[in-house]
Amino acid sequence: MANKWVYLFSEGNANMRNLLGGKGANLAEMTNLGLPVPQGFTITTEACTQYYEDGKKINDEIMDQIMVHIGKMEEITGKKFGDKENPLLVSVRSGARASMPGMMDTILNLGLNEEVVEVLAAKSGNPRWAWDCYRRFIQMFSDVVMEVGKKYFEELIDKMKTAKGVTQDVDLTADDLKELANQFKAEYKEKIGNDFPTDPKEQLMEAIKAVFRSWDNPRANVYRRDNDIPYSWGTAVNVQMMAFGNMGETSGTGVAFTRDPATGEKHLMGEFLMNAQGEDVVAGVRTPQKIDQLKEVMPEVYEQFVGICHTLEDHYRDMQDMEFTIEDKKLYMLQTRNGKRTAKAALKIACDLVDEGMIDEKKAVSMIDPRNLDTLLHPQFDQAALKKAEPAAKALAASPGAACGKIVFTAEDAKAWAARGEKVVLVRLETSPEDIEGMKAAQGILTVRGGMTSHAAVVARGMGTCCVSGCSEITMDEENKKFTLAGKEFHEGDWLSIDGSTGKIYDGIIPTVDATIAGEFGRIMGWADKYRRLKVRAYVLRRRQDRGIPRDDLR
Ligand code: ADP
Ligand code: MG
Repeated sequence: MANKWVYLFSEGNANMRNLLGGKGANLAEMTNLGLPVPQGFTITTEACTQYYEDGKKINDEIMDQIMVHIGKMEEITGKKFGDKENPLLVSVRSGARASMPGMMDTILNLGLNEEVVEVLAAKSGNPRWAWDCYRRFIQMFSDVVMEVGKKYFEELIDKMKTAKGVTQDVDLTADDLKELANQFKAEYKEKIGNDFPTDPKEQLMEAIKAVFRSWDNPRANVYRRDNDIPYSWGTAVNVQMMAFGNMGETSGTGVAFTRDPATGEKHLMGEFLMNAQGEDVVAGVRTPQKIDQLKEVMPEVYEQFVGICHTLEDHYRDMQDMEFTIEDKKLYMLQTRNGKRTAKAALKIACDLVDEGMIDEKKAVSMIDPRNLDTLLHPQFDQAALKKAEPAAKALAASPGAACGKIVFTAEDAKAWAARGEKVVLVRLETSPEDIEGMKAAQGILTVRGGMTSHAAVVARGMGTCCVSGCSEITMDEENKKFTLAGKEFHEGDWLSIDGSTGKIYDGIIPTVDATIAGEFGRIMGWADKYRRLKVRAYVLRRRQDRGIPRDDLR
């Protein structure tokens, strides 16, 4: 029998992570739980390996199976690829076995061309939405598939906003967006030499290949190396019907955690943006609203979402990190996974889940990653010094710990300065996956834009690095390597102290001291001793000794 390279979401489940990748396996699991997941299918990680074996080609057998599954999706949804009546638009999403947030590529709104966009505009009576989808698609396809730099498109958007006297993307009209789409296509033609592809099947195959290729991109390779993820695993590709969060004021998109990933406290935490699509929330395009506000904006959707959060936690028996989109008041779930968390949160969540009768003690111990416990030993500011200090500003406490270092403005500088023994705080408008090495080299990260789920915040928490995000009081001048805050100009090399546990930012040096370990830690250690499965204690004690060496050479 021929190899099976493609699975409908309804054919998979959470145990098929190796074959379907984490995202695909969980989309399948949510589908089977009866949750509102847009229809779709997963192309397996084996197909990715095969693609590389075949000399970076999708062979005929895999191609056929993909098209058969597009046919199945068309049957289920009643929509058709490239159709003039009821067109099918999809996203093409990467999904490795282990989560690699923001490392690989996604393309949204695929299936659009000049004719299809007109159909959508006319049939929906919402031309702004149709043209917004089209300009986004051209932008993402050009960036991800053809590697025309993002910045060219962002510049065109900025120019358009200036010309129209507006500050936000949402203030651009259908005509503005149509004009932008045309400019984008011209940009594409100038950079690539060919016209932008109009055939949805060609768009699809190119997008799938791009996701396979993204497994091998430099930033993914760095992330894998740091997180012990083998190169041989490959990534799966998910093809999924679009849910549109950009249809207007009754639509939106967001991300949420079932518990606080910084402290472990049991309350919903997350952010959403109305009239927006997926990446807008994490990219910091606009400052998102807190998830609690969804209760006021759309009470029924909020209730349904809270219900789904309970279902998912009960099912996975762990804190979940979810993506959702609301399309004209209808809620869709786009992703769930066990959420990344700080060491402090990991301990609290494990203990709470035991107390709630969700898991047993053994399971609690196994949920603690010894490497993660290391981050419990984050430095804090010296309390006496802190009492005397006045914060220059307060922004979001995105990843705990305290940091003190010299200001740098680029990831490259952070790396270079750190390599020669300097302590640095990386200050950026927002971070992107290219910045990862610089973020690692920094004592702390400060961003002007972006919320608790921005790239900087998520990655910093994963790395255990202190981060303060969304400090909109900063007036940034990246080009001249300076910024203004609280009436003062800060330059490259000036000292800055930031507290990722409080979000406070201080001018100058505040010495840091090592943290003490408290609370749930002892409980988990007791259980670990009882079951003797993890040598957590030995490991942690060793780390404490390592850190006992005075690390504070600032004074
Ligand atoms: P990442 O792994 O970087 O999170 P994703 O594949 O999850 O990439 O997608 C990026 C963004 O696009 C996410 O916000 C996601 O929710 C959104 N997205 C992906 N597929 C769809 C879809 N079918 N409809 C609407 N939004 C989508
Ligand atoms: Mg995602």
